[in-house]
Amino acid sequence: MSITLYNVKTRTKEAFKPIDDKNIRMYVCGPTVYDRAHIGNARPVVVFDILYRLLRYTYGTDFVSYARNFTDVDDKINVKSISTGRSIREITDETIKWYIEDMTALGALEPDHAPRATEYISEMIEMSSELIEKGHAYVADGHVLFDVSSYESYGELSGRSVEDMIAGARVEIAPYKRNPMDFVLWKPSNSEQPGWESPWGFGRPGWHIECSAMARALFGEKFDIHGGGLDLQFPHHENEIAQSCACCGQDSFANVWLHNEMLQVEGKKMSKSLGNFFSVRELLNKGFSGEVIRFVYLSTHYSKPMDWTAKKAEEAEATLRKWRKLTHGCQSSKAISNEVIDALNDDLNTSKAITVLHGLAKTGDIEGLKSSAQILGLLSDHMGAWAEENTFDLSKLEKLILISRDKAMKTKEFSELDNLKKSFIAAGLDVQMSKDGIKLIKGPKFNSSKLEEFL
Ligand code: AMP
Ligand code: ZN
Repeated sequence: MSITLYNVKTRTKEAFKPIDDKNIRMYVCGPTVYDRAHIGNARPVVVFDILYRLLRYTYGTDFVSYARNFTDVDDKINVKSISTGRSIREITDETIKWYIEDMTALGALEPDHAPRATEYISEMIEMSSELIEKGHAYVADGHVLFDVSSYESYGELSGRSVEDMIAGARVEIAPYKRNPMDFVLWKPSNSEQPGWESPWGFGRPGWHIECSAMARALFGEKFDIHGGGLDLQFPHHENEIAQSCACCGQDSFANVWLHNEMLQVEGKKMSKSLGNFFSVRELLNKGFSGEVIRFVYLSTHYSKPMDWTAKKAEEAEATLRKWRKLTHGCQSSKAISNEVIDALNDDLNTSKAITVLHGLAKTGDIEGLKSSAQILGLLSDHMGAWAEENTFDLSKLEKLILISRDKAMKTKEFSELDNLKKSFIAAGLDVQMSKDGIKLIKGPKFNSSKLEEFL
């Protein structure tokens, strides 16, 4: 079976046919860099990382190109710069560094291209000029606007009529627009705002044009896959399609469109006011490992809304501990299980792939488990530090508690022994006492850092 994907553009699950199987190109909209990525932002990163791995597995690592941009010109960044007194470049550099660190902690491979919008300003100016020349954009009051009425297929991706879009979206009404749906390709900047010289004066690009211009610069006018979160379907992706197809021809731009559904927390939309809004870094600092977070993401199909819950994270941690223990020291040369590949080929059915891994663990196919987990970015050697407890030697602690018991038996004073036992249990150990000795067993919540005082 070959890769099949649900193509939002055609609203059907289709067999994936590369334009050129020696040059497969995937573009995913990346973050606006003014703050730490929240856990919702990480969902597309993990989802498209799986697709990237699957494409590389299927077509060969040298024949797949993945681009994910950084939006480093945006009014939210300007606001942060003013409120903190720090330069835009300082803020965006720092946020990009954090983003790469946090996404790497989740086991995401770095894309082949990670373009910053500000490095492609001339390409955006060029594309805007072409759109004006072709009658799809106009200049008004220092702005360049895309003329939505000039592009017949506008709204096809999201399946909305222009009337619905006006009613449903927060469309910025502005006196210089011919039509309320027209969107900005270029806008003027004052001396406090970031800006570049252009045929329309000193200014900066609108958001949507950056992806069209960068995708064309990196991949040409037509490429295979375009992805992002569902919230980007309209207006962002609709606008990208309008710009690129109006500029380069109706059949240009991406063949296949994929959107991941949104992530919520404990059944509720994430929001700062509900106090359930947190960054990936906060989760990592709380002691959740990147691998555990990744596992939770993979247990829900990308096309379904996903709920982050503490319970799921606990279950994921217990499973991964078990699997890491089983595969400890295993250098597998076995091929990835066909069943895992079949599951991923079926529109990235990651939850099914995990079920297959459970089966391999259950039947004792340790090598199969180890090698098959890798295509999901799990059980890799470099991500296992959090579970090093598997190799943690308990003999010293067993001796310690044995001495304490012998002493207690003699003195009939049991409080020291009880306290020791309590501490071991709190570190996730099962303390089994018998007349022959004492055995300590690591439970699923074993945490060696709680035992440091006894070592
Ligand atoms: P932004 O920085 O807001 O442009 O978002 C970066 C990426 O995160 C985009 O692909 C969004 O679609 C995605 N995204 C934002 N919020 C969520 C969420 N709650 N769940 C899933 N994806 C999200
Ligand atoms: Zn984009």
